[in-house]
Amino acid sequence: MRKAYSILLLFFYLFSTTELHELVKIPILVEHYYHHSAANNNESLITFINEHYFSGDIHDEDYSQDKKLPFKSNDNCVLATTSVAVNPELFTIVKPAIFSIERNYKVEKNIHFSSDYLSSIWQPPKA
Ligand SMILES: [Zn+2]
Repeated sequence: MRKAYSILLLFFYLFSTTELHELVKIPILVEHYYHHSAANNNESLITFINEHYFSGDIHDEDYSQDKKLPFKSNDNCVLATTSVAVNPELFTIVKPAIFSIERNYKVEKNIHFSSDYLSSIWQPPKA
C-alpha cells in the first residue's frame, strides 16, 4: 500500500512541477490525428507527428487546433496544489521517548523578604 501511495505522490509531484500534465491532452492528439487522417487520405501517424512537431510553427487553417495539442503551447503555470487523504491506520507514528529527571529542590522561606517594602511609596531613587 505504501508503494501505491508513493507512486501516487510521485505523479502528483511530477504533474504539478513538470510539463507532464501535457499528457492529459493525448485524447486531443488522437482526435486531431483522426481528423487529419480522414481529411488527408489516411495520413500516417509519422507524417502527422512530423507535420505538427518537427516542421516549425505552421499557420494553416487548423492552427488553433494545432496549438491545443500536447507540448505545443506554453502555459507558464507553476501553481501546485495537492491534497492527499491518508488513512492513519496504515501508518504507525512512533512517538519519541521522553525522559525526565525528577529533582526536588528545597525552597527555604525567606523571612527577610517583605512585600510591604515594594509597595511602599518611600523607596530609594532608581537609576
Ligand atoms: Zn493539425
